[in-house]
Amino acid sequence: MRCPFCGNEETQVKDSRPTEDKSAIRRRRLCTGCGARFTTFERVQLRALTIKKRNGRRVPFDRDKLERSILIALRKRPVAPERIDRLVNGMVRQLESMGDSEIEAETVGKLVMEGLESIDQVAYVRFASVYKNFREAKDFEEFLDSMSGDIENETKDKADDEAKDD
Ligand SMILES: [Zn+2]
Repeated sequence: MRCPFCGNEETQVKDSRPTEDKSAIRRRRLCTGCGARFTTFERVQLRALTIKKRNGRRVPFDRDKLERSILIALRKRPVAPERIDRLVNGMVRQLESMGDSEIEAETVGKLVMEGLESIDQVAYVRFASVYKNFREAKDFEEFLDSMSGDIENETKDKADDEAKDD
C-alpha cells in the first residue's frame, strides 16, 4: 500500500481488526519512509459499478471506455500519459467511493468535465461542447461515440465537406 503522503511503497501494518459491524477490516499503517500513520479498509466488493443511462438501461462501468473518451479529448495535447493515468485512477476512485454501486451516466460526464478542466482547457472545451448535446438527448454510449466523431471531424482538414455518411 503506497503512502498517501510521500508515495513510499513500504508501509507496516501496526494493527488489524474488524470494524464494529464486521463488514470490513480496518488496518492501521505506518509509513517507513516519512513516519505518517494512516488507515485502510478492506471491504467486500459485492458487484462492480453499474452505469444507469438516461433511457433507464444499465451497463457495467467500463474503465477502458472512460479512459478512451479522455484520451480522445486530450488528443495531441501536451499532457503526460502518467498524468492522464492518475486522472483516470482518481475518477474511478471517486466513483467507487460514492457509496452506491449504481451511478447515473451524467455523474460520470460531470466528473470527466471537472477532471479535464483541471488538466487541459482545450480538452475541456472539446469535451464540454459534445457533452452539452449529450445532455439534451443522448445516452452515455451514444455520447462517447458522438464525441469521437466530433473531435475527429474537428481535427481533420476540411477537405471533404460531403463525407457525412457513416
Ligand atoms: Zn510516507
